[in-house]
Amino acid sequence: MRSALRSPVLAFLVCLSITSGGFGSAYNARPKLVVIVVIDQFRGDYLERYHDQWGEGGFRLLLDHGANFSDCNYNYANTRTAPGHATLLTGTYSSGHGIMANEWWDPEKKRRVSSVEDEATRLVGISSTGPGASPHNLLADTLGDELKLATQGKSRVFGVALKDRAAILPAGFAGDGAYWIDQKTGTWITSTYYRSELPKWAQDFNDSKRGEKYLNQDWKDSDGKVLRTTKPSEGKAASFYDLVGSTPFANDYEFEFAKELITYEKLGNGPATDLLVVSLSANDILGHKVGPDSPEMQAMALTMDRQLANFFEFLGHQMGLANVWIALSADHGVAPVPAVAAKLHLPAESVSIDKMKTQVNSLFSSRFAHQAEYVREIDYPLAWLNSESFLALRVKEEEAERAVGEALKQAGMRGYYTRSQLERGDVPNTETGLKYLHSYSPLGGWYVLGVPVPYTVGVSSGTDHASPYTYDTHVPLAFYGLPFQPGTYRSHAEPVDLAATLASLLGINAPSHAIGRVLTEALPPSRRVSNSPHGSEREERSMPSVEGRGFQQGAIRDSSGERTFPAPALAAATPTRDLAAAEGSR
Ligand SMILES: [Zn+2]
Repeated sequence: MRSALRSPVLAFLVCLSITSGGFGSAYNARPKLVVIVVIDQFRGDYLERYHDQWGEGGFRLLLDHGANFSDCNYNYANTRTAPGHATLLTGTYSSGHGIMANEWWDPEKKRRVSSVEDEATRLVGISSTGPGASPHNLLADTLGDELKLATQGKSRVFGVALKDRAAILPAGFAGDGAYWIDQKTGTWITSTYYRSELPKWAQDFNDSKRGEKYLNQDWKDSDGKVLRTTKPSEGKAASFYDLVGSTPFANDYEFEFAKELITYEKLGNGPATDLLVVSLSANDILGHKVGPDSPEMQAMALTMDRQLANFFEFLGHQMGLANVWIALSADHGVAPVPAVAAKLHLPAESVSIDKMKTQVNSLFSSRFAHQAEYVREIDYPLAWLNSESFLALRVKEEEAERAVGEALKQAGMRGYYTRSQLERGDVPNTETGLKYLHSYSPLGGWYVLGVPVPYTVGVSSGTDHASPYTYDTHVPLAFYGLPFQPGTYRSHAEPVDLAATLASLLGINAPSHAIGRVLTEALPPSRRVSNSPHGSEREERSMPSVEGRGFQQGAIRDSSGERTFPAPALAAATPTRDLAAAEGSR
């Protein structure tokens, strides 16, 4: 292998064939489409756990023919859906993009708001008197926004998910559309932020009642055992989101919609690279109920593998997989169900947040000899303070937050960071300190981020995520497409690296607040050889200077079978020079 690759003739041929593969910048419309698949609640270890059970063309398209970063962790503490989706596309953490929770207290509106609700907009696709939704709370722009800027709007950018926040935040400010469902009915909706009416194809999709076929169905495993049903229980009102959302049928429903979007919006057919972010919500809806170690979650993952294979095959037929780059990640992991972990003698526990809130509030009521609600809400392990109660007693924010932090410790929390402290950047110079610094946002009034005891969750049944620990921070990060050297990369990676890497490869500016690094170990070095008169740049890729470690060589066939292209002949396992430089700057 080594001697063959050292042959200058062969190296030249490989270079030539890669160069003619169309690798280039956004300006010459290569790739035609970037698809980012975000799985809502999918731990990084699942890819290994079920490795022997994955079929062809699904996860294995990325694992066998793509660059898979097996040690990707969020470097912040607030591992929740809205922050996770914002992080992936902005390439920065909450301290950069401002989204630190799914919902927070708005001190001006004096009510709880969601990360995306926007009173200046209305929902489109259903009759509703409530506020619409938009990315207006984002404090940073996204990969899609930069693609739009670089192509002066020629790129098209879309987000699709069951959840509003998971569709809207990834689509950024300049997104052409974000679609999510009305939870009650399953109808696909959007907001006047994007358009005043649904496009005809989306209206037709809703009119054809395509969600109804997923109701009153049994979801069975491969042995025919019923795992879950989408029949509403007798006399109980249940939403489409709860019934269908916690089964793989929801992924089918999302992919059906995403395929219609690709077809009718002609994604991959325009003058510039388009971007589609699909967030698969079902894993999270089910995962909260049954936990990561249940047979249901295994069946969900294995079904998702087939659903992904089907979707990737569709992309191959539509535009040829050689014209598509695919990235896969997740917004957060999940903790084991406490009872399951406790059986193995881990100190796992369900913490009663009602009890904790009552305990903290009575402590302050007696300390101040004044009955009031001092902590408005605990979204474990995060506590929202009632600033009015403290201000009425002339207690300032910093003092109030510190006192609540101490009370939370008494109630069982391991430690705490206050909003004031994080705003000042006053944290210990430790890995944990950095995680909490990254979790800061100026939005949300007074708050305290509690540091939970590992394996504790704040729900009475099932499980949750929202901790700085690896079970919540470890997520997949994998790329498929011409620029990527296939292989498993065990070097340090973070979800913020996704936007930085794709921006670099597209030849566009990274999102405004991006702090991620370009994952150079998965990319062969390239050097520019000429500029064409049309402004598109050809790149000649030289051979990596480090030796591969047993990675597969040879041809890759795309799953549509339409085209083969050579696998980059050398896969660099750990190009130490680049990596050291990158990590030194972190
Ligand atoms: Zn989530």
